[in-house]
Amino acid sequence: MQNYQKELEKLLEKITKEGGVPTLLLHSCCAPCSSYVLEYLSQYFKITVFYYNPNIYPEEEYRMRVKEQERFIGLLNTRYPVAFAAGRYEPQEFYSAVKGYEAMPEGRERCFLCYELRLREAAAMAKAQGFDYFTTTLSISPLKNAVKLAEIGLKLAKEYGVSYLLSDFKKKDGYKRSVELSAEYGMYRQDYCGCIYSRQQREQEKKERALNVSEE
Ligand code: SF4
Repeated sequence: MQNYQKELEKLLEKITKEGGVPTLLLHSCCAPCSSYVLEYLSQYFKITVFYYNPNIYPEEEYRMRVKEQERFIGLLNTRYPVAFAAGRYEPQEFYSAVKGYEAMPEGRERCFLCYELRLREAAAMAKAQGFDYFTTTLSISPLKNAVKLAEIGLKLAKEYGVSYLLSDFKKKDGYKRSVELSAEYGMYRQDYCGCIYSRQQREQEKKERALNVSEE
């Protein structure tokens, strides 16, 4: 498997040598996942955090996550400025994208379609607004497929003509750092990925765990 973290490091070295500060549209799924990524990449890029997540269920959860994302950006001290842009919240876009794959467990085709829906919106916006790069925070999660994310990102980069920043943010203790930052900033940290199916799966797992404990 290609080492995406190494690829990213090579690019960051090149950017540093050239002395410029490129613009990056960073799709974010939630404040906790964005925390380490922003701490890391804001040393090299002028970032706009793009919050486009029609997959999130229910709406109150969505509102809470957007609010937390904006609050965190406001608190974080960065070398270069970080801006925020909220996308549409039209859950039907998610349900149409994953139609026929609803029952899949987390980490399979339903998720790949969900990645693509969100990355496509980011690629389109990056193109329309003239960003140098686009990427997503999603690869920080140990539950997300970094290979699929890279495959989708590179495909969209070709389609839209904007460079995709390869990443595997969980590497170099990225995930661990995001947990530390979440605690440091007292962040709201949800226990399910986002969609109704991941919430049902998590509830089921909790029930099963509780049952196992009571049987012991
Ligand atoms: S589990 Fe997460 S990535 Fe997968 S479809 Fe649901 S919200 Fe999207």
